Order: sequence, then C-alpha cells, then structure tokens
Amino acid sequence: MTTDPITRAVACNLCTGCGACAGAFPEAIRMIEHPVHGRRPVVASGPAGRAAAEAAIGLCAGAETDHTALPRRDAVDEMWGPVLAAWEGWAADPEIRYRGSSGGAVTALALFALETGAVDSVAHIAASEADPLENVAVQSTNRAGLLRGSGSRYAQASPCEALGPIAEAGRSAALIGKPCDIASAARAAAADPQLADSLALTIGIFCAGAPNRSSSETLLCQLGVPEGAQITALRYRGEGWPGTMQARWIDADGTAHDSERVSYATGWDLLQKGRQWRCRICTDHTAAFADIAVGDPWHAPPVNGAPEPGRSLILARTPRGRRLIEAAIAAGALVAEPRARDVVARAQPNLAATMGAVWGRRLAMRVAGLPVPKEKGLPLFRFWRHLPLRAQVQSVAGSLRRILSQALWRPIRMEPGHDV
Ligand SMILES: Cc1cc2nc3c(=O)[nH]c(=O)nc-3n(C[C@H](O)[C@H](O)[C@H](O)COP(=O)(O)OP(=O)(O)OC[C@H]3O[C@@H](n4cnc5c(N)ncnc54)[C@H](O)[C@@H]3O)c2cc1C
Ligand code: SF4
Ligand code: SF4
Repeated sequence: MTTDPITRAVACNLCTGCGACAGAFPEAIRMIEHPVHGRRPVVASGPAGRAAAEAAIGLCAGAETDHTALPRRDAVDEMWGPVLAAWEGWAADPEIRYRGSSGGAVTALALFALETGAVDSVAHIAASEADPLENVAVQSTNRAGLLRGSGSRYAQASPCEALGPIAEAGRSAALIGKPCDIASAARAAAADPQLADSLALTIGIFCAGAPNRSSSETLLCQLGVPEGAQITALRYRGEGWPGTMQARWIDADGTAHDSERVSYATGWDLLQKGRQWRCRICTDHTAAFADIAVGDPWHAPPVNGAPEPGRSLILARTPRGRRLIEAAIAAGALVAEPRARDVVARAQPNLAATMGAVWGRRLAMRVAGLPVPKEKGLPLFRFWRHLPLRAQVQSVAGSLRRILSQALWRPIRMEPGHDV
C-alpha cells in the first residue's frame, strides 16, 4: 500500500522528474536516477518524510495542473498556451549560437537577463562532470556558467531541485527547464510568496519527451563507444543546427577518443523509444506556464538536413517575457524577426498530433484502472475529436497494448524494499 502522495505519484507513473518536491524538502526527499523509470524522488520513511511529501504534492505538476488562469484569446492560445508574440532568431554571440541546440536563444536571453541585472542568477541543468549521462541542477551567474548547459540534453533532468535554494537565497533568479519543470515551478511559486518574489523569469524549452538513461546507453553503442569505456562527454545537440550526437571517452591506457557521430534524426529516433510513459500523456509540450518558450522552427528546416547556423522559434507568453525579448533584440543580444503567432502550429505538427492523442491515451489508462493526472482548463476531448478516425483509434488501442506489454499497473519502486 502506498504511504505518501509523492511515492504514489512515482508508483503510478505520474511523476515527470521535475525535482520540485526534492528542491523544497531536501532533508526528506531526494532524487535518484533509475535506468528505465527516470529521475524520481525517494521519500524518507517516517512521519517527517510523510509530512514533507504531503506538502510537496501541492507543488507537483506531474500529478495536477490547472490551465484555467492562463489567458487564452483564440485557437492558437487554446492549443499552445498564451502566445503574446512570436519571433524566429538566434543568439548574436556566435559561440552561443553554434553551441546552442537550435539558435542559442535560451542562453542568449538568460545571459541578457544576467547582464542587465534583471536576475542575479540562472538555474538550469548541465551534464554531470562525474557521469555525463546524467544531468545536475546548477546555478550560473555568467556566460561560462550558462554555456555548460548549452544544447538540449535528451536525458532525464530535474532543474526544479534549484527552487528551494532560490527561495532561501531571496535574490532574483531565472529558471530554465522543460514544460513540466516550468509548470511545477509555477505551482511552487503560487504556493510560496518568497519563491514568487525571487523567481523573476522562467524560460521553457519545447519538449516531445525525456528519454531515460538506458536510451543514452543504447546511443553510446550506436556511436561505437566500447562497453565499459569511461565517458567524459556526451553531446546530443549543438555545433550547428540541428547538430549531431557524439561522445568522448577514455580507454584503458588513458587515451581520449571522439566517437563516431550520428545525425540528430538518427539519434532522436533511437532515444525517443526510451521516453518515460508520463511523456505520452503530457498536455504541455511548449511551456505554457513560462514567461518565454523556445523551440525549433521546424517549419523551415535545414536544407537536406545539413547542419546550418542555428535558428530558434521564440514565444513571448507573458508581458515580462515580451519585454525581455524586445529589450534583447534592441540591445543586439538576440537577432530575431517577428513571425505570425500561429507559426508555432506550423513548426510543431508532431506536438499538435501528440496533444490530440492524449485524451485517447488517458481513456485507455482509465479503462485499465490506472490513475491519470488531474487536469483543469484544457479541452482535451475536443483536441482528440479533431484527429483523423484512424489516429483516434490508435491512441486508445495502441495505449492499451503498451499498458499490457509494459505492465504499467505494476507500481514503480525506485529502491529495493522501498515502501509503496
Ligand atoms: C528532452 C527534450 C525534448 C525536446 N523536444 C523538442 C521538440 O519536440 N520540439 C522542439 O522544437 N524542441 C524540442 N526541444 C527543445 C530544443 O531542442 C531546444 O532546447 C530549444 O530549441 C532551445 O534551443 P536553444 O538553442 O535556444 O537553447 P540553448 O541555448 O542550447 O539552451 C538550452 C537550455 O536548455 C536546458 N536544457 C537542456 N536539456 C534539458 C533537459 N533535459 N531538461 C531541462 N533543461 C534542459 C539547458 O540547461 C540550456 O539552458 C527538446 C529539448 C529536450 C531537452
Ligand atoms: S514534484 Fe516533480 S519530481 Fe516530485 S513527484 Fe511531482 S513530478 Fe515528480
Ligand atoms: S514530454 Fe512533457 S512530461 Fe515529458 S519531459 Fe517533456 S514536458 Fe515533461
């Protein structure tokens, strides 16, 4: 029997791995990484752990989200979250653009916020130096620090572990994260005025799903890295758009090697097979709760898939996000041109299809007796009804098949003997 709501969220596949619970209650909740289930919280046994988990579930966007307060003017906002304005552009700093995942816009905007004093620090994730297959939550106060996080890391990451320290420090900070990270940060800020005061900016990246560690291990095989090699770096994106995936490793003699490279398309195809189940029922792939959201402008992809200097699709979601983007363009930190607000639909047809399928996938979960996230303020049934009939059927039947083949009714235990 599950003993606390955070352990229950993990057990039932509702957890996204954002880290907000562990960030708020570090003495009672810690994140650990499982090769298949992802980065997940483990709650200390006993009354203190239970009390922390009961408070922490109020921050958890994995279990519950409420979109009703988000301003929505039209069909664009309804599907994609508030879009005040859109741009296509890139970091004016050539290194930030080159190392960035798409056009380096996230890093350029975060650096601009630091340099203009809009924030004192930026919380984001970076590859762990000890184990580059894992990510750690870090805070940066300068360009070099931010560049540690450049390029998407198609792996588990928990940037909200930084929220506790941000609230405690009481200095203004920005947070960069995936949509689920930003959604938990919004819930946490709503619950904690001290955090709301400090969290001066949120930048979300678009996200189709976070692969697990075993996917990165499969990628290493594809890259020709010998089993057991000491990995010193693993790059999933960047160095041109859309970039290539490549590892660096050290052999038994201590000699460093660069692995083969695979294209973004080949690598993502392999990695996405190991997306956590929670991503398949995710209803926010474009960071609706952020001040600024950034993704790839796939409506105008690189010609023949060849690497190009990067470009980002940039959405202002709040007035303060819009002010920062416009100031960064005016100051020359960001090179960007306005686009029609519906550019996001043209850029991300795959994410629209995924959103459409969610109602059917959750129906399959309900039929199988599995809990689904509580969700308010999104017309999920209407999105599903607009899918072609074949896709509607597939969303339900395919999910039932997956539930059976992955035995999703079995509670997830993060540690042997963990009490669920
Ligand atoms: C798992 C995943 C799936 C994605 N799916 C899509 C998609 O379907 N469509 C799309 O358009 N874009 C997707 N992206 C986003 C896209 O790859 C770029 O991150 C985005 O365009 C921003 O690029 P940039 O050059 O402006 O960012 P950069 O300047 O390179 O900065 C990237 C920032 O993202 C942060 N970051 C990287 N990986 C993670 C992570 N795993 N968790 C939290 N923060 C992270 C870094 O700390 C860094 O600050 C995905 C990214 C990830 C990590
Ligand atoms: S707060 Fe985040 S890490 Fe904690 S249970 Fe919820 S989704 Fe998982
Ligand atoms: S798909 Fe959704 S739940 Fe999964 S990592 Fe991305 S934002 Fe989080």
